Amino acid sequence: MKEFISYSPAMLKTFEQCQKKFEYKYINEINIPVDSSKMQLGKNIHALANYYLKSFNIDTLEKILDKKEKELWNNLKNNKYFNLSVIKSEFNITSKFKAYILSGRLDALVKDDKDNYYILDYKTGKIPDNAEFDYQTIIYLIITNKFIKKYNSLNFVYIDLKNNIDEIIKFNKDIKEKYEDILEKKISELEKCLKYNIYKKNGYNCNCEYHKICVNQD
Ligand code: SF4
Repeated sequence: MKEFISYSPAMLKTFEQCQKKFEYKYINEINIPVDSSKMQLGKNIHALANYYLKSFNIDTLEKILDKKEKELWNNLKNNKYFNLSVIKSEFNITSKFKAYILSGRLDALVKDDKDNYYILDYKTGKIPDNAEFDYQTIIYLIITNKFIKKYNSLNFVYIDLKNNIDEIIKFNKDIKEKYEDILEKKISELEKCLKYNIYKKNGYNCNCEYHKICVNQD
């Protein structure tokens, strides 16, 4: 049985989309090349944000931004949450949850002077449809809750740079219980698949980057 050191949002999202896809990606480690040009804009903005929050001089980098990058960067630079006090930027975070380890990489963790904490996630693309129950929201809030321990409030902020809007999810006792329940059920379902090495297909008329391999297999 394959064992994973930790579970990330991407792993759980893939498993929820399709167990077979999870098998190709995380068990067989088959990587299908993707169009990296689509991801470059996001990478550039994230890199710039990280340098800025770490107080590096970014004057030269700002001068070479193209029109689209400049627009997104200005939206982020003027965002009220992005201008709060920085605790950490672009960092890996892990935490024990029941018998498992959860992991993730935060864009930034910031706070105001009243001990309200905000996990920031910059999006150059779309915010998840059901952001409150997206595995990224769930895992990052559960881990960060353990990481900072004492706070007035803990929040997750998706910053939609294209539309210049924020979606905020507030962490509290009720949502924590719901999140823990969701995580426990999903991870134990995943571990059952690992144990018996059986991964179901999501459907027979679906499509994903593994379609060409998948179509010829049961
Ligand atoms: S093509 Fe469909 S069944 Fe096959 S891996 Fe992709 S999502 Fe799963």
